[in-house]
Amino acid sequence: MTGTEAHEDLRLAVRKLCQRFPNSYWRELDQQRTYPEAFVQAMTEAGYLGALIPKEYGGLGMSLVEASIILEEINRSGGNAGPYHAQVYTMGTLLRHGSEAQKRAYLPQIARGDLRLQAFGVTEPEAGTDTTSITTAAVRQDNHYIVSGRKIFISRVQHSDLMILLARTTPLEQSKKKSQGLSVFLVDLREAVDHGLTVKPIRVIMNNETNELHFNQVAVPVENLIGVEGEGFRYILDGMNAERILIAAECIGDGRWFIERATQRAKERSVFGRPIGQNQGIQFPIAQAHIHVEAADLMRFRAAERFDQGEPCGAEANMAKLLAADASWEAANVALQTYGGYGLAADYDIERKFRETRLYQIAPISTNLILSYIAEHVLGLPRSF
Ligand SMILES: Cc1cc2nc3c(=O)[nH]c(=O)nc-3n(C[C@H](O)[C@H](O)[C@H](O)COP(=O)(O)OP(=O)(O)OC[C@H]3O[C@@H](n4cnc5c(N)ncnc54)[C@H](O)[C@@H]3O)c2cc1C
Repeated sequence: MTGTEAHEDLRLAVRKLCQRFPNSYWRELDQQRTYPEAFVQAMTEAGYLGALIPKEYGGLGMSLVEASIILEEINRSGGNAGPYHAQVYTMGTLLRHGSEAQKRAYLPQIARGDLRLQAFGVTEPEAGTDTTSITTAAVRQDNHYIVSGRKIFISRVQHSDLMILLARTTPLEQSKKKSQGLSVFLVDLREAVDHGLTVKPIRVIMNNETNELHFNQVAVPVENLIGVEGEGFRYILDGMNAERILIAAECIGDGRWFIERATQRAKERSVFGRPIGQNQGIQFPIAQAHIHVEAADLMRFRAAERFDQGEPCGAEANMAKLLAADASWEAANVALQTYGGYGLAADYDIERKFRETRLYQIAPISTNLILSYIAEHVLGLPRSF
């Protein structure tokens, strides 16, 4: 079987699973702002939650190309890969930088779905995009680190057992460089919540379980430090290329869903005695958005293949994320326009997916920060911050 045939089989398998969760399922959850428990359970049973976990730790040992196909197909079905995607790339920090004992203790349980590692706590209210300015502190006391501080916009905390946390172990003033003195921890949320950790939900534009976290002297055992103390920022950066590529694939899925819907609607909806899609004013924006989605998809695969071959892929991963997020947002606007007033009615799902895909202009990395990366690191322009 060639690589492409295997990919086609994977696509079909994910598509089949997604058919059990039609748009009405996602719409209802969106209206109630609830978590897709049944969907995540089905993904777990299929083994997909352990997609990138190597086989020796009980996972599927897939390539990033394959994992990206799973995410694309979820969004392409009209669903939202958000409740699933974090586990795919969050565990990469543990996989790449955790000790053998940590990997043996956690990865098989995560792959089986017995433990959920769905939360990733980096962003803070004051620091925002400037991650090295975070102030959440982890101070060593005997066999524990005592964590105090605040995090904001942290997803899926209420549906996760573990969280990867970035905190400062050396105060900024005492660190040689801003990027030093930061460390990564595996926080057991089952123990931390109500033992110093307060979780306050934040309602956002789409159905994403988002929270503000307040750490008040939360004790984290020293054995939960991942890698070397003070090196955490580098570990977080290490995971970013995979994250950008996977998010790009979700955007491609969204883009294709919007184009399919817009095309179908343009053929079926008749106004002035003919299908609206007969007007070039309707046709051309759909065609243009389609071209942009397909072009972005090439960059997504180029980035994912380079990643899988262990080649540098920072430029490609960032470009793929930007191109795909822009293409899906363009396709969302085109679909909304094609649907007219119906696009704004919840029953047609366009407005839901429109809200969902808008997120990717801002999180997990905003468009400006990608442009800044390309300007400085690829083109060698002077640093601006
Ligand atoms: C639904 C949702 C879920 C999220 N989930 C998580 C999560 O699970 N874990 C987590 O850690 N974080 C999470 N985030 C946070 C997300 O990563 C941040 O919102 C994002 O990184 C931007 O940070 P900020 O909101 O503080 O924006 P700010 O830093 O306040 O920036 C505001 C705007 O200014 C721009 N900007 C800032 N500095 C510059 C500059 N130097 N040049 C040009 N433009 C600049 C930014 O690009 C942005 O558009 C989530 C956010 C949302 C909305």
